[in-house]
Amino acid sequence: IHPTAVRRPHAIVVQSENTSYSDEHITASFHNRGAEVTISNGQYVVNPTVQSFEFQTKRTPSKTGLMMIGVGGNNGTTLCATILANPSQHQLPLFVSGTIPPLERTSTVPISDVLPMVHPNDLVLGGWDISGLPLDKAMERAQVLDYDLQRQVVPHMALLGKPLPSIYYPDFIAANQEARADNLIPGNDKQAHLEHIRADIRKFKEDNGLDRVVVFWTANTERYSDIVPGVNDTADNLLAAIKSSHSEVSPSTLFAVAAILEGEPFVNGAPQNTFVPGVISLAERHQSFIGGDDLKSGQTKLKSVLAEFLVNAGIKPLSIASYNHLGNNDGHNLSAERQFKSKEISKSSVVDDMVDANRLLYKAPEIGPKGVPIGKGEHPDHIVVIKYVPAVGDSKRAIDEYYSEIFCGGRSTINIFNECEDSLLATPLILDLAILTELLTRVKYRKISGEAKAEEFAPLYPVLSLLSYMLKAPLVKPGTDVVNSLNRQRNALESFLKACIGLESNSDLLLETRIW
Ligand code: NAD
Repeated sequence: IHPTAVRRPHAIVVQSENTSYSDEHITASFHNRGAEVTISNGQYVVNPTVQSFEFQTKRTPSKTGLMMIGVGGNNGTTLCATILANPSQHQLPLFVSGTIPPLERTSTVPISDVLPMVHPNDLVLGGWDISGLPLDKAMERAQVLDYDLQRQVVPHMALLGKPLPSIYYPDFIAANQEARADNLIPGNDKQAHLEHIRADIRKFKEDNGLDRVVVFWTANTERYSDIVPGVNDTADNLLAAIKSSHSEVSPSTLFAVAAILEGEPFVNGAPQNTFVPGVISLAERHQSFIGGDDLKSGQTKLKSVLAEFLVNAGIKPLSIASYNHLGNNDGHNLSAERQFKSKEISKSSVVDDMVDANRLLYKAPEIGPKGVPIGKGEHPDHIVVIKYVPAVGDSKRAIDEYYSEIFCGGRSTINIFNECEDSLLATPLILDLAILTELLTRVKYRKISGEAKAEEFAPLYPVLSLLSYMLKAPLVKPGTDVVNSLNRQRNALESFLKACIGLESNSDLLLETRIW
């Protein structure tokens, strides 16, 4: 089912003293240039900084499995069917199938050749679902793909069989999902559930001879978990809360903990707060990778481009009103208040950093007597509405109005109407996230200048914020800023991939075209 094509051993070679190649590794030195900006006597004082690193990337991609929680849903079945329908490994529309300029944009190279990556067709697919419908039937239930493609891929999907039984705590997803829940791990003991999921991951790895399993939440959106001191605020409290089957531990958190304890990466494709503080501490403790939250597929992706364009052009959005309707099972689940709330939060913060970046356009928050800002400062009105309309199925409709102030107090209104198969936007993001996550588990670094100079190479920080480009509400290292701008997210990812082979960041300077 997963033919491995003969691929070029290594298609890009950097000939520089910064980069060296061994059979096992690519090692590259990289100078991270930044700046410290201070204000002194009304003057901005900029001090350029530079810190030197070495990156070491293992050249052979891991034999990788993708275990999806919610594999029987629209995204899960669409992903399986698209991989199975692509035996000849045609180019798929992914980030990793695109190109980037090694230095200036005059020439580009395929991203998947910059560093060795797993090919989507080589991912071994599996996962869990609370619905026990075999995956061929689940694909038909989803009604995402054209009938003719479904017909051709059905025999292959049938070979994948039934999803593994999963954990169902009815309080976390909408009551309207209950009818699907016929494939459950028995009992209410959360510790036993955790061990069951861990055993599933180990078995899948062993049965398929895998080095790595990316565990991916593409199940229904859950309600937010309350953050309760003593329950989910630290790693130890969370582990104890699982032992005592505390009601605030959600299924998605349990899956994340299982993956972390197995040393396998976990990505959250839905908006709920799976990564309660205790999960982040546990990931730090085990140096196990996590990424999230919520796939950035349509409306928000456009918003993270358009809002930045408007603000950077000096056009001041006064209100952004976003409305959606959809008729798939995701929409059905989101028609319940608490699950909608999770999605609303994830969709709402996307313009915050663009507003914060231009406090000439938007008034900064007032500073209180103790030097602490009061409120968030001036901000556009921003609302998000989602409605369930069964008739339109997976074909989501999104309507957005951007109402802005322009020159001399004038007004501009931009209206966008987008209609798209939701799962066909989400599926490629899951593939990109799985492929990049596997890659990031193979990259190590050490500082080679300054105080924290290190002998040993260390893995990256567990929260993989480099995945932000594909995520609606990016999880970042606690205490650091979230970047929502799609351009900046992409630039970070490109720059990182290039740093790993010893190349500097993108330049659009094209100096030779500006001088004689
Ligand atoms: P879906 O409802 O078709 O599929 C979800 C599947 O999860 C269902 O088969 C359901 O039975 C299963 N499930 C629910 N709880 C489970 C549990 N505890 N364990 C195992 N399985 C469980 O939804 P979808 O359209 O595939 O979307 C999946 C998720 O991705 C949703 O949370 C959605 O909000 C998110 N998402 C989707 C998009 C998109 O464009 N499609 C974009 C961003 C985020």
